Amino acid sequence: MAGPGWGPPRLDGFILTERLGSGTYATVYKAYAKKDTREVVAIKCVAKKSLNKASVENLLTEIEILKGIRHRHIVQLKDFQWDSDNIYLIMEFCAGGDLSRFIHTRRILPEKVARVFMQQLASALQFLHERNVSHLDLKPQNILLSSLEKPHLKLADFGFAQHMSPWDEKHVLRGSPLYMAPEMVCQRQYDARVDLWSVGVILYEALFGQPPFASRSFSELEEKIRSNRVIELPLRPALSQECRDLLQRLLERDPSRRISFQDFFAHPWVDLEHMPSGESLARATTLVVQAVKKDQEGDAAAALSLYCKALDFFVPALHYEVDTHRKEAIKAKVGQYVSRAEELKVIVSSSNRALLRQGTSARDLLREMARDKPRLLAALEVASAAMAKEDEAGGEQDALALYQHGLGELLLLLAGEAPSPYSPQPLAALPSPRALPLSAAEPPGRRRELLHTEVQNLMARAEYLKEQVKMRESHWEAETLDKEGLSDSVRSSCTLQ
Ligand code: ADP
Ligand code: MG
Repeated sequence: MAGPGWGPPRLDGFILTERLGSGTYATVYKAYAKKDTREVVAIKCVAKKSLNKASVENLLTEIEILKGIRHRHIVQLKDFQWDSDNIYLIMEFCAGGDLSRFIHTRRILPEKVARVFMQQLASALQFLHERNVSHLDLKPQNILLSSLEKPHLKLADFGFAQHMSPWDEKHVLRGSPLYMAPEMVCQRQYDARVDLWSVGVILYEALFGQPPFASRSFSELEEKIRSNRVIELPLRPALSQECRDLLQRLLERDPSRRISFQDFFAHPWVDLEHMPSGESLARATTLVVQAVKKDQEGDAAAALSLYCKALDFFVPALHYEVDTHRKEAIKAKVGQYVSRAEELKVIVSSSNRALLRQGTSARDLLREMARDKPRLLAALEVASAAMAKEDEAGGEQDALALYQHGLGELLLLLAGEAPSPYSPQPLAALPSPRALPLSAAEPPGRRRELLHTEVQNLMARAEYLKEQVKMRESHWEAETLDKEGLSDSVRSSCTLQ
């Protein structure tokens, strides 16, 4: 049988046509099944001599396991054959090329797109992780796209690297070190966590256009890998804080300090829970049923919160749904929920805002009582600043940050406010003459009580703002559905301004 480079090999039952690509160890061809179905497949020819000798047997066993794996974001291995020279893997055909090409024809990917891809990759890795399979050779060339019209990632080429020596010449020459975790190159001792490093490199490349260790020469590359400098993220393009946080935690040189698999899957930027899946609709439905119930019971705040949580699942459910009729039906319903959420928003907003405004006299009293507590006073100032910020156009996000900061302090102080008459006085903050008679006159529990009410009101408001900000984000995400025809009415009513 002719090997790679000599035109497509012959294989029982298939007609091999164009070469789709070649990687480190194999050449991949597009092929048709000779059977009447004429199914299009991709056939990967791995030359046995490229494998460690003892590994051929293991590899065949492994292939048998991989054949049993079915996942939306993993290239399906349909069958395999072998002869004296090669092993042939008959795989699902991915028409969209690989992620490397996808990134480089676009230069960089917008954060939104990178996030969807990252979720898909994470779901594939979660699936493999649960089955104790590591990839060990994650890179954009090994991530394929189902099609270019509606691209879905498909993880390819996994489960094999375990049988290869990653530091052998071939690997190094083909440029894989760009994606290899430092411990793999430097210590030659590593475990599944190297995959997390590679995910970081892939994400970095998707967002910034080149991997973090991109170099002009091999010695420069080697220096970058061996150095112990923290990976610096370019300042542009502007990215969300969560995205930067994830990158930084994946690209941690020390595997023991690198983000764990569990934390990666749950990271707010990845948020696998809200990834479009077959379960999204059911989760949304459960929540919306609870929302309607709370609404009927007259608990507007709880209802609003549940509607928002439900919408967080409806958006991915819409992304997932392929049946146009069902999609339309869901959209119509979502439109109604959004309208109701809008109404509730007005009610809740005015009521918790009113609570805050009403609290003015209590707040003044509290402030008066806090004169001997500079830290408490400062925290109350932060809360006032948050309220003021809310009145500014577009100040919501800043207001929320201030509320959260102020609340963090107040909660700590509240925990320290002893309900008992004894409260230790720090020397540096000896009571001022005016404060002395006041705190002496007031029952000591009174300040705690006031503080408690204040914290509760502030929390309700912060919670509300948080939901509003989140709601706007789902609206933003819903806009991605534009291309899929999300009706204008839903979109505009999603704007909870
Ligand atoms: P290697 O183990 O040699 O790295 P890969 O499985 O990564 O081989 O395949 C090499 C290249 O062939 C990929 O980067 C991709 O461009 C192409 N390719 C691989 N599998 C498929 C497939 N199922 N459908 C379409 N193209 C594929
Ligand atoms: Mg490959």
